[in-house]
Amino acid sequence: VTAHIFEASRAQFSERLENLALLDPLTNTGNRLAMNHYFEVELVDKINLFIMVLDLDYFKKVNDEFGHDVGDQVLVEIATILRETLNKGRVFRTGGEEFALFIPDSNQQESYQIAENIRVGLQSTAINVGAREISLTASIGLAAYRDGDSLKQAIKAADEQLYYAKKHGRNNVYFDSQQYSAKLEQVS
Ligand code: GH3
Ligand code: MG
Ligand code: MG
Repeated sequence: VTAHIFEASRAQFSERLENLALLDPLTNTGNRLAMNHYFEVELVDKINLFIMVLDLDYFKKVNDEFGHDVGDQVLVEIATILRETLNKGRVFRTGGEEFALFIPDSNQQESYQIAENIRVGLQSTAINVGAREISLTASIGLAAYRDGDSLKQAIKAADEQLYYAKKHGRNNVYFDSQQYSAKLEQVS
């Protein structure tokens, strides 16, 4: 019986260690190491994979206006919204106010729509921290995974799109150097 209990607590402990190594302590979202593991080990089939890089707009202002602790709470709320809005795939926190989202088994149209849902979802959600209501937007770069690309190359492709999104006014989604809404109009 003792051996059994010991074994169970050892398993619990090792699970806790794994969580410590893979989860961002602030938002409980997977960190870069988790993203690596997801990409290299869990994502066996990378065909039809789409990658989104999301960066909050003017986040520095939140810290300046409300303080770093409030900024931290906002990040926690944002991470929750991202996980809840992303109905398939995974969310990782890759930097301060930057997230990478992976959408497997998808296509252009669907991944666009998911990115747009996230963008609009953030825009229309007032984040409550204490008695404050904070509004935020995000810029999103979206890229199709190219067969043979490393994780670094794949993130770079999405980052390039994020650059356009920031450059062209923020609070938008860019894919193939074009704004999502502009592309949808062409289709319809
Ligand atoms: P942009 O629209 O160009 O992205 O503007 P920005 O202000 O979001 O961008 P910038 O990269 O200049 O600043 C990001 C800010 O995010 C700076 C830093 O104070 C804040 N930040 C990064 N990590 C954290 C964190 O863990 N907690 C808090 N509270 N703030 C953070
Ligand atoms: Mg940033
Ligand atoms: Mg930012």
